[in-house]
Amino acid sequence: MDFSFTKKEEKFRTELRTWLEANLPEGWLEGKRDLPEDLDEYSRVLRAWQHTLYEGGWAAIAWPKEYGGRGASLMEEIIYHQEMVRVKAPPLINYIGIHMVGPTLIDIGTDEQKERYLKKILTGEEIWCQGYSEPGAGSDLTGLKTRAVKDGDHWLINGQKVWTSFGHVADKCFLLTRTSTHPEKKHRGITVFMMDMHQPGVETLPIVQMDGHSEFNEVYMTDAVATDADIVGQVDSGWHVLIALMLHERTGIGAELFTLEKQFNDTVELAQQYKVNGKPLIENPAIRQKLASFYARVRGSLLNYYKNLTTTIKNGQPGAETSIDKLVVTELNQALSAFAVEIQGHQGVLVDKDAVADPKWQHLFLASFGQTIGGGTSEVQRNTIGERVLGLPKDMGR
Ligand SMILES: Cc1cc2nc3c(=O)[nH]c(=O)nc-3n(C[C@H](O)[C@H](O)[C@H](O)COP(=O)(O)OP(=O)(O)OC[C@H]3O[C@@H](n4cnc5c(N)ncnc54)[C@H](O)[C@@H]3O)c2cc1C
Repeated sequence: MDFSFTKKEEKFRTELRTWLEANLPEGWLEGKRDLPEDLDEYSRVLRAWQHTLYEGGWAAIAWPKEYGGRGASLMEEIIYHQEMVRVKAPPLINYIGIHMVGPTLIDIGTDEQKERYLKKILTGEEIWCQGYSEPGAGSDLTGLKTRAVKDGDHWLINGQKVWTSFGHVADKCFLLTRTSTHPEKKHRGITVFMMDMHQPGVETLPIVQMDGHSEFNEVYMTDAVATDADIVGQVDSGWHVLIALMLHERTGIGAELFTLEKQFNDTVELAQQYKVNGKPLIENPAIRQKLASFYARVRGSLLNYYKNLTTTIKNGQPGAETSIDKLVVTELNQALSAFAVEIQGHQGVLVDKDAVADPKWQHLFLASFGQTIGGGTSEVQRNTIGERVLGLPKDMGR
């Protein structure tokens, strides 16, 4: 494993840095980073940012050049994430379109589908969500009950999805449905549709999270309509499509680890600012010890991530080890934000308009619980690590 970057990679970093300095929203680099509370305005601002990225050629760097990407290497993707975290760039509203749907369509979509969707994903004209989870199907998606039935020349879709991130701003949904019954193998008979979210049969209801924000939704489908042209892959072969899609998540966790590293540095600053009896908390040995322990854990996780990345580069695709990164980054994020709230002392219990201190830490702490669930719960990650990385016997419950 080599930790240094090549000249070509450093040139890539400089090019991106220069572009960001010239193109980030006004005042952003100086710390004016407020995004609108109003949902429509929020969506408008972030779609505009997505469009700016597109115009600069920075919307989807890993996509092949012929589809509007840069054909970036994994290392260039890492540099991209590092730089975006460094300037605290605005969030990517079309994350699912760019990182999941687009690459899957490039792999297995028809020419018409590529022509129809890819550019609109890049420009932010069409925002995507993914509709997998249902009230009875989360960790085990084979339990899904949303049904699509052929009716003349189109399909009628009925059912309910839940926890649909970005559903409230999305134009399109990458939707998992059951199209036939194969009692002997439940992962058969699933079909993926690209469903239009702006049709009468689709109702999206926001769910309020415990941090007061509302980023995911319930989605109800009552005779929603789709056509054969909206199917990704073949009818009944949705499971393979899902596997193809998951292989595209090459570096997402890495981006979160870099954010975690930045959060650690911010926590150190917090401990320098907060005082007890006139003395900065950073001078308290117990606080210093805790910070040292966090430093070791964050650093260790980053090195482990780099190690797994080397395996990914060698094998051409990520392996089960990425479960370690997902588990560690989300649980460490939770512990670190809890510690930052603790540093704020009695000020830490107040949020939003009541807050006397920066309420960012309270939001991070409250949101951290969802992160240990979304994209596969910690328990499921532990099972994967046990069975597929350590070679332990299978979970007896299954
Ligand atoms: C912030 C957030 C964003 C999300 N975004 C989306 C999205 O955009 N689209 C989407 O479709 N879904 C989304 N989800 C849903 C998410 O994928 C599911 O919540 C997750 O897969 C868990 O499923 P579940 O909630 O049905 O829990 P269940 O699967 O019912 O699990 C309940 C409990 O049992 C445990 N458990 C289940 N199976 C096992 C096992 N085999 N071994 C050990 N323990 C087990 C789980 O760890 C958990 O503690 C999101 C969730 C969150 C929190």
